[in-house]
Amino acid sequence: MKKYLIILCVLLLTGCSLKLDFKENNSNNESNDKKVEEKIDPLTLEKIDSEEEKNTEIKEKEEEKSQIEEQKVEEVKEEKKEIQKKDEKTETKVEEKVEETKKEENKVIEPKKEEQKVEVPKEDIDLSGVSSKGYEIKRVNGIYYVKGILIANKTYSLPSDYNPGGLLSEFNTAFNKMKQDAAKEGISLWVASGFRAYSLQSALYKQYSNSYGSASADTFSARPGHSEHQTGLAADLNQINEAFGNTAAGKWLANNCYKYGFILRYPKNKQSITGYIYEPWHFRYIGEEAKNLYNDGEWITLEEYLGIDSKYSN
Ligand SMILES: [Zn+2]
Repeated sequence: MKKYLIILCVLLLTGCSLKLDFKENNSNNESNDKKVEEKIDPLTLEKIDSEEEKNTEIKEKEEEKSQIEEQKVEEVKEEKKEIQKKDEKTETKVEEKVEETKKEENKVIEPKKEEQKVEVPKEDIDLSGVSSKGYEIKRVNGIYYVKGILIANKTYSLPSDYNPGGLLSEFNTAFNKMKQDAAKEGISLWVASGFRAYSLQSALYKQYSNSYGSASADTFSARPGHSEHQTGLAADLNQINEAFGNTAAGKWLANNCYKYGFILRYPKNKQSITGYIYEPWHFRYIGEEAKNLYNDGEWITLEEYLGIDSKYSN
């Protein structure tokens, strides 16, 4: 029994010691764990801290970067704005310059208008005197006469209000006689275009100068006040074209009109003297003097005969 009791006791004792050992081991383990934890924790914390620091640093850097980028964007925007402002300024400057040049142009034009206004009307400039042939150039009521012949050409104009109302009686009387004599020879004559008032000539010339240009129009159409059609002593007969000069009527007129007091006013190759192209249709009544301008089929001009010019002053 004693043996069993002893064994029991031993067993109990060893059991306690084992339990104690286990407990000790456990406690040791726990403490070790704690130690490990204690050992790991600071490191990991440090690591975490450093990581966090790193993260914050990265974040800060990123923020800085983004701020820098934003600043750059802002700078670019401002630069763009400045450029736009500059462009606007240059545009306004250009516009101002254009306005200035316009103003300058107006300034340049304005005095011209004033000059034109101040300019004395041609009718008021007295061209009376003596012709190169020694004839007196008279001026009566604004109308010029040389050797008693009324003059209307590029140099000598008629007053705008000069209006006989139609072809004058001396023209009609002479024309009717010529017409009758021509008819006896089988030639028929008629007035295609007779008297033209200042206003009608003005409209005609405007139309021609618009269509052909004033330089060209000046060779065949008179400016208002310069037309013989306003005198009531000139007319275009039959056909108003150059071919008329080669017709029977044209030839008859060129060789017989002087007998009735008419002249072929704008003969061939005399444009530099009369200022007009050859007009085989245009006849002017001057009376007795007509025969002095005709020389065996050749015509001298009224300008040559009287010694006067036919040129526009401008
Ligand atoms: Zn005519």
